[in-house]
Amino acid sequence: MAAKVHQFMCLQDNFGVLVHDPDTGATASMDVPEAAPVLAALEATGWTLTDILVTHHHNDHIGGIPAVKEKFPNARIVAAKKDEARIPGADVYVAESERVKVGNLTARIIETPGHTSGHIVYFFEEDRLLFAGDTLFALGCGRAFEAPPPVLHQSLQKIAALPADTQIFCGHEYTLSNARFSLTVDPENAKLRDRFATIQTLRDAGKPTLPTTLAVELETNPFLRPGDAGIRKQLGMANADDAAVFTELRERKNKA
Ligand code: ZN
Ligand code: FE
Repeated sequence: MAAKVHQFMCLQDNFGVLVHDPDTGATASMDVPEAAPVLAALEATGWTLTDILVTHHHNDHIGGIPAVKEKFPNARIVAAKKDEARIPGADVYVAESERVKVGNLTARIIETPGHTSGHIVYFFEEDRLLFAGDTLFALGCGRAFEAPPPVLHQSLQKIAALPADTQIFCGHEYTLSNARFSLTVDPENAKLRDRFATIQTLRDAGKPTLPTTLAVELETNPFLRPGDAGIRKQLGMANADDAAVFTELRERKNKA
């Protein structure tokens, strides 16, 4: 049976997400930004936590783990091998292309260095679900804190190569401010303008803008489109390489 996904807010603008396998009852929390909303979501769904899948070491993604572990001591913690030192106490450390099971569901690990050097994302291939942490956001991407922007660009290109119908869950609700920025670098993009209106309506109603799909991001997210002629024209970088355009986009967004 297909995976069930439950998304909810944590902290200020972090998403919590539970992934549930109806066949076995296994349930994973994708990061634990904050314990109380994750525990409340488990209570509301009636699901029992079996796994905690960590994307990266930032506190707004792991801060809730100790309190959740106290309630579910058998929950297995999965984290990146490259973050062994910064995420101590995980039960399993994983690297590129390795598989993680949540009951009968299988996630493939994709290493996406950039936001942090050890960042990983979880791709449930059969269900076409991607949990992107702070690597990719709707209409944006994470800040390149621990690698030069071209490294993050390469990581995003790995995501861009996944099936277009992949549903993408992200670490934060940053979409409206990302949309405002996107319009400054890609003002002629009709699909982006339509999307901006939809996003504004959702946010005005207090609703989340996630999940998104890869198809939509490929059409509208400038950080996945450094090769686009319209964006290059807007930046005055018609003949630059993609990594240079990406770097310029990232630097402009940092200052926005
Ligand atoms: Zn982060
Ligand atoms: Fe974060």
